[in-house]
Amino acid sequence: MKFASTALAALAAGLSFGMAAPAFAEDAPSYPETAQGAAQFIAAAEKDLFDFSVDNARINWVNYTYLTDDTDALAAQSNGLLTEKQVAYAVEAAKFSKLPGLDADVSRKLGILRQGIVLPAPTTPGAATQLSEIGTRLASTYGKGRGTLDGKEINGSDIESEMGNLTHTPAEFAEMWTTWHDNVGKPMKGDYVKMVGIANQGAKELGYADVGAMWRSGYDMTPEQFSAETQRLWEEVKPLYLALHTYVRHKLNEKYGDAVQPKTGAIRADLLGNMWAQEWGTIYPLVAPKGAGDLGYDIGDLLKAQGRTPIDMVKAGEGFYSSLGFAPLPETFWKRSMIVKPADREVICHASAWDVDNKDDVRIKMCTKVDSTDFVTIHHELGHNYYQRAYNKQPFLYLNGANDGFHEAIGDFIALSITPQYLVQIGLLDKTKVPSADKDIGLLLRQAMDKVAFLPFGLLIDRYRWGIFDGSIQPADYNKAWTKMRLDYQGVTPPSARSDDGFDAGAKFHVPGNTPYTRYFLARILQFQFYQAACKQAGWKGPLHRCSFYGDKKVGANLNKMLEMGMSKPWPEALKAFTGTPQMSAKPMLDYFAPLKKWLDEQNKGEKQGW
Ligand SMILES: [Zn+2]
Repeated sequence: MKFASTALAALAAGLSFGMAAPAFAEDAPSYPETAQGAAQFIAAAEKDLFDFSVDNARINWVNYTYLTDDTDALAAQSNGLLTEKQVAYAVEAAKFSKLPGLDADVSRKLGILRQGIVLPAPTTPGAATQLSEIGTRLASTYGKGRGTLDGKEINGSDIESEMGNLTHTPAEFAEMWTTWHDNVGKPMKGDYVKMVGIANQGAKELGYADVGAMWRSGYDMTPEQFSAETQRLWEEVKPLYLALHTYVRHKLNEKYGDAVQPKTGAIRADLLGNMWAQEWGTIYPLVAPKGAGDLGYDIGDLLKAQGRTPIDMVKAGEGFYSSLGFAPLPETFWKRSMIVKPADREVICHASAWDVDNKDDVRIKMCTKVDSTDFVTIHHELGHNYYQRAYNKQPFLYLNGANDGFHEAIGDFIALSITPQYLVQIGLLDKTKVPSADKDIGLLLRQAMDKVAFLPFGLLIDRYRWGIFDGSIQPADYNKAWTKMRLDYQGVTPPSARSDDGFDAGAKFHVPGNTPYTRYFLARILQFQFYQAACKQAGWKGPLHRCSFYGDKKVGANLNKMLEMGMSKPWPEALKAFTGTPQMSAKPMLDYFAPLKKWLDEQNKGEKQGW
């Protein structure tokens, strides 16, 4: 989506925000350090950022959909300016935030401004430049990273897909895994250590204990409470994860034998079809239950059989939201979106949703193919667009999801609704072809291989970095701590001995990219909460995973109550507006997968669970 991709583009472009930041601060008018001064400061900052963000979004849009040296330069310049502004506003906001008598909204907005930058530089001369140079170097080390396969060099995106290619041998998986982690992660360590030191100083200047505490401060609770909250959610879903882990380990043992994958203990990290063992869907053929593994239809084939085009697919997605009572997408969406890959120029194909004018100039950018994956992706991306449009009456600083897990969860929750029943309702699947209940385990297992397998990974990436930022993990222990956390949370173990001076975490994009990761964990949990709430409101009585609330205007009206709040209220209030409860809970996810859990427990009888 827009927020993430713009931030990454800014990072990749290698900004020198620090150099210009003081000049910006000097130019900016100063406000008295009173409650009233704070309110004036916020009003001016919102106006400036609103206008600038429209310009910035247009420039990035042109860049992403027309990649040339010129548009790269324009985007780098604009993103650099944006970062300067964010740094300057964060520093100013920190000054005002402790004043007595602040209006509640002003106080909330000061908090949002203070957290507006992921990796803050301190005001020490040269520190910002150094931080930005390190960020650029880390990103480019990752981008240029290579592993090997059968001794031949292979680039990052190819090695990612080869890890899911089941024709490779365990030795080849181990080779790809080891070379990637050695070549990409290890060279980053020195820079990462330096970066942590500098950014921690920056966070202190903004009034936080360290960068990790700053990241945990964006959730309407204390950093400690947030940490405990995510741990609580993890404990809720852990039995389901353990059951899946035990079953998959058994299947891998059957396939590869004791010498490669022992019957007990951890799973070898390179055998799960993904470089980071974060989602296991690509090895589904190895674990599919006999007779129930195949659904009997493929959405891509259904679309092709009816001669549907990418535009038709987007129209179908729009139709889902219209059926809930949301207004149709504006004319400009169809005129300005990039729905298919242009034939004559370079573009960034990675799917994203944009809100260019902060009002209703919403768009998607995709290189849509007529297949099942993209049909789901369209429903997901449009979720961002409808969220953006729903909160467009809010002031600038509230134009966002209730917390950073919400935006992704909306799209995913809508995508969960693409059930066989829904496909019948929109005339894509014949009523007689709806898979019978005996296919349910296959359907659920395929989902779980991605959504359940991801949970411990989604949690540990930040737990590890919180430890680094607060000093409980020292540089000498970077690799030891990483390997241990991977074992403790995921129950996976590296296929080769790891050296203490390595930096395996650096081989995961979001670590050198400095993208906070807990949002993805939250989104996985929240999407099932939203889904169950919608199904209850629609009066659904059957098994949760078969529920469709297509066409239910009451669900749409309730959903809109949450969406239109944007970030204006603490997220528990937004959650309550739709689901009736202010608490995040993994219970709906457990309900969704309950038939699978029961089945897994039967399969796992006699197996030693855990590691
Ligand atoms: Zn998304």
